[in-house]
Amino acid sequence: MPETEGVIQFQLNFQASPAPAPGSLPELNAWRQIFKQLGLLGQDPARYDGFGFGNLSRRVPHPAGSENAFVISGTQTGGLAELSPEHYVTVLDCDATRNTVVATGPIKPSSESLTHGLLYQADPAIAWVMHLHSPEIFDCQAALDLPVTARHAGCGTPQLAEEVARIHTKLSGTDARLIVMGGHEDGILAYGADPHTTGSLAVATQARALQSLFS
Ligand SMILES: [Zn+2]
Repeated sequence: MPETEGVIQFQLNFQASPAPAPGSLPELNAWRQIFKQLGLLGQDPARYDGFGFGNLSRRVPHPAGSENAFVISGTQTGGLAELSPEHYVTVLDCDATRNTVVATGPIKPSSESLTHGLLYQADPAIAWVMHLHSPEIFDCQAALDLPVTARHAGCGTPQLAEEVARIHTKLSGTDARLIVMGGHEDGILAYGADPHTTGSLAVATQARALQSLFS
């Protein structure tokens, strides 16, 4: 299946509802702002046919017993300068094998929600997922010896879930990890137990990639 940036490819079971609790959003907004300034997230007519790119999510407890619920930005919000609670949505469940996502909120979830979901399912210690687009990190994957998922593993696919399972080793403490998405142009996934170690890892890796390109 050809992959199109920004277009929802999964079956969405969506229920309109109020925005997620504002208290879950300041850290997401802070890191989103930083990545937008760095050009790792956003919307640019010259990149990816003008579709929005990059999105952040965090795990949230869900009263209905969903084990891997998370809050993520809505679809095609990359171009907005700032997000308000109405731009966020809660994903209650997702299934890469069946290609389904169940979500509730004021806006439909990001087209890359399944990719986020399979990370939360891979390890209960993963509490933050930051999907970014960095041509520099993508190009320096070998030089920086970063783990990379196979080219055939597209966003949110069972193959990507298999690749994450192959690469991922369990988190401990405030660990964070970064992997390159071999099947998704410029795509990287930083994820971890804490927003600051996860976000800092992405920024530090961007610096290492630039350093490699300048040397
Ligand atoms: Zn992407």
